[in-house]
Amino acid sequence: MAGTKTTTAPRATPKPPPRAEGATRVDVLIVGAGISGIGAAWRLKRQCPDKSFVVLEAKETFGGTWTTHTYPGIRSDSDLYTFGYEFKPWVGPPIATAEEILTYMREVIDESDLGAHIRYGHRIESAAWSSAEQRWTVRARTADGAEQVFSAGFLWMCQGYYAHDQGYTPEWPGMDAYGGRIVHPQTWPADLDLTGKRVLVIGSGATAATVVPAIAGTCAHVTLLQRSPTYFIPGRNANDLATQLRQLEIDETWIHEIVRRKVLFDQAEFTRRAREEPEAVKQELLAGVAALLPEGYDVATHFTPRYRPWRQRIAFVPDGDLFQGVASGAASVVTGEIERFTRSGVQLKSGEVLEADVIITATGFNLCADGGIALSVDGRSVKLSDTVTYRGMMFTGLPNYLWVFGYFRASWTLRVDLLAKFVCRLLAHMDARGAHAVEVKLPPEDASAPLGPWIDEEDFNPGYIQRGAHLLPKCGPKPEWRHTQDYWREKDDIPAIDLDGPEFVYS
Ligand SMILES: Cc1cc2nc3c(=O)[nH]c(=O)nc-3n(C[C@H](O)[C@H](O)[C@H](O)COP(=O)(O)OP(=O)(O)OC[C@H]3O[C@@H](n4cnc5c(N)ncnc54)[C@H](O)[C@@H]3O)c2cc1C
Repeated sequence: MAGTKTTTAPRATPKPPPRAEGATRVDVLIVGAGISGIGAAWRLKRQCPDKSFVVLEAKETFGGTWTTHTYPGIRSDSDLYTFGYEFKPWVGPPIATAEEILTYMREVIDESDLGAHIRYGHRIESAAWSSAEQRWTVRARTADGAEQVFSAGFLWMCQGYYAHDQGYTPEWPGMDAYGGRIVHPQTWPADLDLTGKRVLVIGSGATAATVVPAIAGTCAHVTLLQRSPTYFIPGRNANDLATQLRQLEIDETWIHEIVRRKVLFDQAEFTRRAREEPEAVKQELLAGVAALLPEGYDVATHFTPRYRPWRQRIAFVPDGDLFQGVASGAASVVTGEIERFTRSGVQLKSGEVLEADVIITATGFNLCADGGIALSVDGRSVKLSDTVTYRGMMFTGLPNYLWVFGYFRASWTLRVDLLAKFVCRLLAHMDARGAHAVEVKLPPEDASAPLGPWIDEEDFNPGYIQRGAHLLPKCGPKPEWRHTQDYWREKDDIPAIDLDGPEFVYS
């Protein structure tokens, strides 16, 4: 592991901050009302009914990712039996639209009366920990510019991992001279009419693979331009086991649990094979794609990635719609690098020119690790990148603070449930010990060990993680000081964590 050494700066003498007049006092403050924040609130209310809590959300509504992204065809790229919560059965097709996911989340909010706890239009700007008070003072800005102050015992960070206001668009020469419209899918304009237009979609990930088939029937032609190809798994948007269990009139709660286990079992097997026999898995994935393309299609150039399977998320393509678009001629794929934008399109390094009326840059996210929140501890500013993570959820030097960063290879939400149960257990444990604060600390034998990056680039390397690596916490030498991204190990390890272990320091 490439390492840097960090030393923990001595903590300044705790000074109580000026008491915020009129602060709303809660035991727990949840940041964000996306799928993580709603899952956290549900579990807290159920498992710790005596804890007061509030969910602060910058937007005017819940949903996070599923509200931000409104581009044509927006849908999940993993199955909802596992992306849905453990506690609420998913009854629709496995790959869901944003609207279906939002309906599901609304039901969770309404059925458990979570709405009363959520304050929309509250963008948190700062969170300051006071060791003297053993509380966080959280300052949020409301839409009308007013400041609202909260005093919270515990910060449960469900702010996601990317900036919601703007996606990532690389700078290409000549962009200013381009005469058409440039659109990033993350900020899709409501007035964009693609009827009869020549559209160029730049990118190769799940977003590009979703937008292309969704607009292929509307625009004159859509070209997907990628620098290098990505792996896809085409398949029917149906789960045969769920269908069969429904025919047998099995209760939906059971179907959810059984199908969830089956999906996780199959994913574990796939992940193992991708590690142990990458070439065989690669050939299977390529054969699945080739089967949907016309005879003689250049799969080697356009659909054969340069990396081994699973180093980036693999998107499921429901009903192979992307490949149908290519086969029908409504969409085409070009693999090459952009030299420059021209007045009417882009010119590639190969000399090829692609003309387009609209260019869609499906080029990814801007990583945002801390939700744009200025953190401080006893008056000293703290950056997440200065900390070392305990299991990708708690951080050295940040008391009573936990960030829900889900899984990439399995559904994000699996970790939401797992960490929610952990937080509830931790809060109960603190009460039992009479403790008001808990902090994680590297054991002395590891304190001067070389530290590594949040995610091992060899193992998983999407562009936004590489671009934002400097913003992320460091990991330590042992698995418990890393975000292992291994659901199958964590599902047993996290519930078994010894809360009296040496890594937890209570006060
Ligand atoms: C288009 C797209 C499709 C995806 N599909 C899948 C998929 O199929 N399966 C999968 O596992 N993962 C998928 N992901 C990853 C996805 O982001 C997560 O799975 C999940 O939705 C993240 O949920 P979250 O609640 O943690 O974060 P977000 O959805 O990012 O929500 C965070 C919320 O916190 C709020 N917030 C942030 N900062 C502040 C602040 N300072 N103050 C107040 N509020 C704040 C935001 O406004 C937002 O509402 C997808 C991502 C994208 C972009």
